Amino acid sequence: MIRVYNTLTRKKEVFEPVQPGKVGIYLCGPTVYKPSHIGHMVGPIIFDAIKRYLTYNGYKVTWVVNITDVDDKLIAESERRGIPMSELAEEMIADYMANLQALGIDGIDHFPRATENIDAIITFTEDLIRKGYAYPAGGDVYFDVSKVPDYGKLSRRKLESMLPEGGEGVERKRSPYDFALWKGAKPNEPFWNSPWGPGRPGWHIECSVMSSRLLGETFDIHGGGLDLIFPHHENEIAQSEARHGKPMVRYWMHNGLMQAADEIGKVGGRNTRVAEDDLDAQQAGKISKSKGASPFRDLLKEYRPETIRLFILSTHYRRPIEFSERRLQDTETAIETFYRFFERFERITGQSFYSLPVPKSRKEGDLLDGNDAFMQDVAGHRARFLEFMDDDFNTGGAIGELFELVRRLNRFVDEHRLEDPQHRTPEKTAALVRGATVLRELGHVLGLFRQPPPKRQLPEEGGMVAKLLDLLVSIRSEARKAKNFQMADRIRSGLAELGVVLEDRPDGTQWRITDQTG
Ligand SMILES: [Zn+2]
Repeated sequence: MIRVYNTLTRKKEVFEPVQPGKVGIYLCGPTVYKPSHIGHMVGPIIFDAIKRYLTYNGYKVTWVVNITDVDDKLIAESERRGIPMSELAEEMIADYMANLQALGIDGIDHFPRATENIDAIITFTEDLIRKGYAYPAGGDVYFDVSKVPDYGKLSRRKLESMLPEGGEGVERKRSPYDFALWKGAKPNEPFWNSPWGPGRPGWHIECSVMSSRLLGETFDIHGGGLDLIFPHHENEIAQSEARHGKPMVRYWMHNGLMQAADEIGKVGGRNTRVAEDDLDAQQAGKISKSKGASPFRDLLKEYRPETIRLFILSTHYRRPIEFSERRLQDTETAIETFYRFFERFERITGQSFYSLPVPKSRKEGDLLDGNDAFMQDVAGHRARFLEFMDDDFNTGGAIGELFELVRRLNRFVDEHRLEDPQHRTPEKTAALVRGATVLRELGHVLGLFRQPPPKRQLPEEGGMVAKLLDLLVSIRSEARKAKNFQMADRIRSGLAELGVVLEDRPDGTQWRITDQTG
C-alpha cells in the first residue's frame, strides 16, 4: 500500500488512481530561456524515481513534462541576443534534453510545448468566457477569481493576503487578483491570431490545457516545485475545475527546492526523518548565486550523473536539498562503496554485477526466500527499502537501506573469505549472487547502477604508477612461489581496495585499473 502526501489536504493518503492500474503524472517543466541548472533537474530526478517505483508496483504510468516556449522571459532574452524566440527555445530545449539523457531520465512520455497547443488554449479560454469565468479586456483575457468560491484552496491563502499578479494590465482587470489567460501582443512581440486580436497565452493556462488533453480532466498526480503552489498551481486548479466541473488532480505533490548550503552532510547514513510542513519557509534560500546555479552541463563535467542522482534522492523529496560542492564530493566518495563491491562481485563470481537479471516487478522480487541468516538479512533490507518507498516515496530512507545492504554483502564476502578462490564453494557464490541480485533490483527502482560508471583515466604506460604496479605484481608472484599465500592475498586485496584488479592468467598476472577516485 503506497501512501502519498497530498498538498491539497496536507495529509498522507492511500494512493488510489482514477483508473485501476493506470497512473497519469504531470510535472511542470522548464521555461526555456537559459541553460538548465541543477535546480531544474530536481523534479525530473524525483519523478523518474516515482514513475519507476509505480511501474515496479505494477502500474502503467504516463508521465508528461511540459515545455514553456513562449513567455516574457523568452521574449526578453531573445531580444537581448537578437535571435528569434523560437531559435532561443530550440537551443534551450536541446540543452534540457541532453541533461535529462545524461542523467538517464528516459521515462517521460510526452513533452508538449505551449506553442504547439495554441488552438487548444484558445478553445479552452473561449469556453471559460462562455461559462462566465473569464472576460476579454483590451486585447487581453482575464480569469475572474471572484467567480470561484474555493479559490486559494491549494495554497490556503485568503484572497486579501494574495499579492496581485503584477502591475501589468491592472487598469484593465476587474480585480487586481484576476490573472491573464491571454495577453495582447505589444509591438514587435511574437503573436498568434485569436478572437481577441493578436497575442499569446498566459503561463498558467498552458498547463490546464496540456494536462487535460494528455491525461484527462481528472488525473492522478500533479507535481512541481513548492514555489509553484501559488500562483501557478492555484490558477491551474481554478481554470480546469471551472471548465470541467470536476476535480483536476487527485494528489498534488510538491518537491523541496534546491538551496545553497555550507552544511556538511554525510551521505550514506540513515536519513529517515519525514518532512515537516514547511511549504513557504523554503523559498528564502532558493538557489541563485552559488555554483549550483551554473549550467548543469558544466556540473556534469565534474561529477558522474549517477552521483548527482544519488545526491538528490538522498534527501526526502519534500525537504529542501542543500547544495554544496562538498556534499556532492561526499556523495561521489560514498557511491564508490557500491562500485568497489561490484568489482569484488565480479572477481568472485566471474560475472558482471550489471549482467544480473532485474526483477520486472515487486511480485517477482518477493519470491526471495530467506532460509538462512544471510538471506534473512538481505530480505529484511529489501522489506525496509520498500516500506520507505511506500511511505510517500522516502528515497532518502530507501538509499540508507541500500548502503546497509551493500555493507551486509561485503561482510558476507569477508566472513567467508570469498576473495580467496580456495574458500569459494558453489553454495556460497550462489548466495552472494542472490544477495547482489536484490541490490540490483532495488538500485534499478531508483534508476541507480544500471550500467558501469565511465572509466577513469588509466595511468600512462611506462609511468610511475604503472611501474609500481608491475613491481607489486612481481613481489606477489614471488610470494606465491614461496607459498606465502597470506602475503599474496594481502597484496591482491589491498590493490582491490584501490580499484586495481589482478587477473591471473597462464602467461602471468595482469593488473587492471577499474574505477577509482585516485
Ligand atoms: Zn505548470
